[in-house]
Amino acid sequence: MNNTDKILFIPSARKGNGTGHLKRCAFWSSELPVQNFYIPDGEDSFSPEELELITSCCSQKNIIRKYPGERWDLIILDNRSTTADYLPAELHDIPIIAIDEAGYWRRHASFVMDILPGIYGEKNSANRSGLSFMDLPQSRRAAGSRSSEGIRNVLISFGGEDPAGLTQKIMDSFFLHQSEWSGTFVQGPSFHQDLKEKENCPKSIILKSPDNLKNILHHYDLVLTSFGLTAFEALSAGTEVFLINPSEYHDRLSVKVGFPLLNKGWKKKASLMLQELDKALLKGSFFEQNKNLRDSLDLSHENFSEWLSKLTAVSSTCPVCGGRNNQLLRRYENKSYFRCHSKKCGMVYMLNFREKQDIYSTAYFFEDYKKQYGKTYLQDFEHIKQSGFSRLKNIEKLQFHHKSLLDIGCAFGPFLSAAADKGLESYGLDVSEAAVDYINKNLKGIRAVSTPFESFNPEEAFNCSGFDIISLWYVIEHFRDPAFVLRRVCALLNAGGILALSTPNGRGVSGTLNRKHFLEISPDDHYTVWDRNSARKILTNAGFTRIRFVTTGYHPERIPVKLPFRKIMNKSILLWISKLFRLGDTFEIYAVKKGKS
Ligand SMILES: [Zn+2]
Repeated sequence: MNNTDKILFIPSARKGNGTGHLKRCAFWSSELPVQNFYIPDGEDSFSPEELELITSCCSQKNIIRKYPGERWDLIILDNRSTTADYLPAELHDIPIIAIDEAGYWRRHASFVMDILPGIYGEKNSANRSGLSFMDLPQSRRAAGSRSSEGIRNVLISFGGEDPAGLTQKIMDSFFLHQSEWSGTFVQGPSFHQDLKEKENCPKSIILKSPDNLKNILHHYDLVLTSFGLTAFEALSAGTEVFLINPSEYHDRLSVKVGFPLLNKGWKKKASLMLQELDKALLKGSFFEQNKNLRDSLDLSHENFSEWLSKLTAVSSTCPVCGGRNNQLLRRYENKSYFRCHSKKCGMVYMLNFREKQDIYSTAYFFEDYKKQYGKTYLQDFEHIKQSGFSRLKNIEKLQFHHKSLLDIGCAFGPFLSAAADKGLESYGLDVSEAAVDYINKNLKGIRAVSTPFESFNPEEAFNCSGFDIISLWYVIEHFRDPAFVLRRVCALLNAGGILALSTPNGRGVSGTLNRKHFLEISPDDHYTVWDRNSARKILTNAGFTRIRFVTTGYHPERIPVKLPFRKIMNKSILLWISKLFRLGDTFEIYAVKKGKS
């Protein structure tokens, strides 16, 4: 992302959802040149005056109240739980970062970030989580032993809106409370009605819409709040925290994180709430819980706009067919995997949010390759060339009289060398200049150019307009736009020409038995994960016929065998099983371009 990109924030501004979403979006966007917010017009949203107050840290704000149907580079959705159609359909193919999202977009946004912990389960886990983007309090209370007798000053804050009216309920009970406490009650900017003090109650003070609540938290011995940002802010300010929640959902979240909280029974006897609280405090585990939480809290701070500037914003649209709203498979810190739900496609694809440049440098073929395979690419040349002969045999089986071959991603040319030995006019294409230089200097009769496939011009490069065979060995998965590659390959092939490619098999033994691990270790530059089913559909749509698969990369040792069967299941039986079920971790595809040769 860069400074000129257009970013649209879609925060919740609905009454009942609190002011927190809007506030933090305002905070995050305040460093951007313009702060664009989409807040659909509606009876239940905050008034223009309230919006103005909540977003007061933004100097160049642009609040869009009607349909934001222009082109945006990124959407930041902070709307608690969002339905599919809350976002106009035109926005569905734009990169979306969803924050603490619990609705439809949790499984459909490109990237999900949880600021506060949630209950989502592993399959719905976020790409990243943690409080580090929040501006936590700088002032801290001195550490020391705490006890219930030491509590005097209590802050009561239930957000800018407090839709459940908890502040007033506690205020009503405060008067009845026997202890020596004095209470400061925060009245947020969007309270439905002003707080009403009981007459003659010297123990309570009302604080109206404080500018910077988090920076006064350390003045208090105890903060009463519900599950949310204030609770974490109070912890980081070193203040004791006790939660009184408006819903069982909030209770479940509090228990998951480990906050001390009031038993839900309090609702039946609101006036006795503080006596209940006293009992809870006297149990003693309260201070222990707070201490453990504080110790486990990661208080490191990261700058949101700086993080954003390093992010590659990618839409969750299928890179093959353009299908939208696809199903999430898994999220990892810097990547998300989706499967296209189109019956004509079904591709598994990766969105990479941290793209690296220049990964196919000379070092790739020497150091990185050696790390993976124990020898450099050139030391492995003869071995790869031999496998090239068996690939050429597979091509011959398609019985096409072929003369010329283009190898895309040819590296140092072992396959080209095999093809030339078989009498084919052989041309190579690779982004690595070192590899192409090597071919042109050392492999007789073979020509190669160093250019990205996207800008490859066969007339200019080789003075020819088409090829009889085009091969891509472990290359197709590296393209961000495989649809373009297939279209272009099809156009470059002579009628009846042959496409030959190899790629990791998403349905091999590794991908089938432990998909989570398989996707996790799938390289960050593999944008698509192919399998037979999706490959057949995609190649048919791209204009190919007579599609043949050759499964390779068998790893029978990866098949888990339970104890009683281990003795009888020797390696050759397991190999037979993996071949029967085509469980190889890689596969080759051969297909013929439709049309007469
Ligand atoms: Zn698709």
